[in-house]
Amino acid sequence: MRALILIATALAMTVPAAAQETAASADWSFAIHGGAGTLERSRMTEQQQADYKAALQVALDAGAKVLKEGGSAIDAVTAAITILEDDPKFNAGRGAVFTWDGINELDAAIMDGNGRRAGAVAGVHTVRHPILLAQQVMEDGRHVFLSGKGAEEFAGEHGLEIVPPEFFATEERKKQLETLKAKNLSALDVEFKYGTVGAVARDSEGHLAAGTSTGGMTGKRWGRIGDAPVIGAGTYADDRACAVSATGSGEYFIRAGVAHAICDRVLLAAETVDTAAKTVMAEVGAMGGDGGVIVVGKDGAPVFALNTPGMYRGRATASGMSEVAIFADE
Ligand code: ASP
Repeated sequence: MRALILIATALAMTVPAAAQETAASADWSFAIHGGAGTLERSRMTEQQQADYKAALQVALDAGAKVLKEGGSAIDAVTAAITILEDDPKFNAGRGAVFTWDGINELDAAIMDGNGRRAGAVAGVHTVRHPILLAQQVMEDGRHVFLSGKGAEEFAGEHGLEIVPPEFFATEERKKQLETLKAKNLSALDVEFKYGTVGAVARDSEGHLAAGTSTGGMTGKRWGRIGDAPVIGAGTYADDRACAVSATGSGEYFIRAGVAHAICDRVLLAAETVDTAAKTVMAEVGAMGGDGGVIVVGKDGAPVFALNTPGMYRGRATASGMSEVAIFADE
């Protein structure tokens, strides 16, 4: 009898701890972005705002579903990004911006915070989902960063979906290039926004992941590569600190090593993800760059930091948060 009581007491004592563990491990968290920029209410009709929000919600829900069902952070990131790549409203995959030479040149990266494995591709023209190609590079493990023809050869060898280059082209993006050339404008003048897409996730096992996919900047030349596929600039994940995906004037994000800088501040200076993201984005602003980041840390809800009037974004958590927003003041 005494033994039974002892066992019962021991069990009772372990229950709260076990329950706590379950609660903590189910604490998944997810965020997406569809680009930052001069997104102002006066520039967008109610209908446009509703269309963008609906598109963001679809991608957000797809990633959240993966996490809710116990899937991995990496799978949540690719679930959302493949949807955004197919949506011509965003500058990734179909609907990517045009280069100076009138083609679509795509960049993407993905990083697994568990072991800091990473894969990235730049300058691809025929791979329907560059984020899946980046993931394949990561899984293959021999290299981290592939570009151009070689990346496409690798895609073919690994059974990625190949499409004709025209698949990515839209009339609207073509017009933006024509306007940029005719009026000698900058990419932001014709687009009003950076339309790169990205996602960050923490899964129920506490692993973090980040992914980013983009067509770059309208009128880019000479094989220009932005920050999105550069590990540590536009994309970074480390289970010990945070996962980051960025959008904005890529050259500044590369120079500031934005995504890595944020995670370093969290890891080494024990800053919150919010403080770290805001501090680094302020540095980018001081250098002359603009844009935004989405960040998820080891616990808590995802955070956003931007120094533009808006950023297409959304976040969802295990505790029931599910929201999308466009303007900085939302
Ligand atoms: N950061 C991207 C680049 O510089 C642009 C974007 O965010 O849309 O290529």
